[in-house]
Amino acid sequence: MKIVKTVSEVRQQVKEWKRAGLSVGLVPTMGFLHEGHKSLIERAAAENDKVVVSDFVNPTQFGAGEDLDSYPRDIERDAIICQDAGADLIFHPEADEMYKKGACTMVDMTGEITSELCGKTRPIHFRGVCTVVSKLFNIVCPDRAYFGQKDAQQLAVIKRMVCDLNFDIEIIGCPIIREEDGLAKSSRNTYLSDEERQAALVLSKAVILGKSMAESGEKDACKIVNEMKQLIEKEPMAKIDYVKAVNAETISPISEMNGSVLVAMAVYIGKTRLIDNFIYEC
Ligand code: AMP
Repeated sequence: MKIVKTVSEVRQQVKEWKRAGLSVGLVPTMGFLHEGHKSLIERAAAENDKVVVSDFVNPTQFGAGEDLDSYPRDIERDAIICQDAGADLIFHPEADEMYKKGACTMVDMTGEITSELCGKTRPIHFRGVCTVVSKLFNIVCPDRAYFGQKDAQQLAVIKRMVCDLNFDIEIIGCPIIREEDGLAKSSRNTYLSDEERQAALVLSKAVILGKSMAESGEKDACKIVNEMKQLIEKEPMAKIDYVKAVNAETISPISEMNGSVLVAMAVYIGKTRLIDNFIYEC
């Protein structure tokens, strides 16, 4: 497995693979890899001849006052995880390799799909995500790209973008990987103190509650959301950003459990903002 830092090195390697008739899978990440990322890489390795993992903390998707500078980084550890999971190439660029001096083109998606849920608190986030993922798609030219359901709105946004901009890439959504006690794995979990780590369990508990209500036939999405909110509010260290039911594809708010419904939440545990969700098909 190689680690490269420049766009031209990635292009050269991928060209060689393509000339040999090999398929390429891409797993975009911001590094500080865990079992969640590993599951994406393993799936990509099972479904493609070659796998590229991008490991880049993308500055354009962080707003002012967010955790760009403190975001955890450890490329040596990431390399071991990538190798174990079956990756062939890590693309680990510096910010000035991805965004050349004078860069002024962004990919901006409008509408509820980017303004609802995380888009309300993080108004420039999805513009940064769409821009960096478009660039990665153009650099790597993968046959397939793998994204986690953990970031369900991001997955919906990427699927929309691939359709709107005619990228010839298959987008594969992968299930949420959790700690044994239910907490969704996240690079940001490292910010949590022991006490906060316990308090953070309220997110997965709310997911379990909401899911079981949906599975018991509850059709009123507001009722499900309200019960989940009440559960979270019982945890003194938790502050709700949002808990909402939306159409999983369009991210439009819904009031009835109908079709493919995403029930998603963002909750602050102390200063750390965590997300979790479930999708219910009915
Ligand atoms: P990140 O490094 O947080 O930008 O995540 C990179 C990719 O890994 C995204 O597609 C995430 O949705 C996915 N991912 C992060 N955490 C998990 C998890 N716990 N389970 C599954 N996928 C995840």
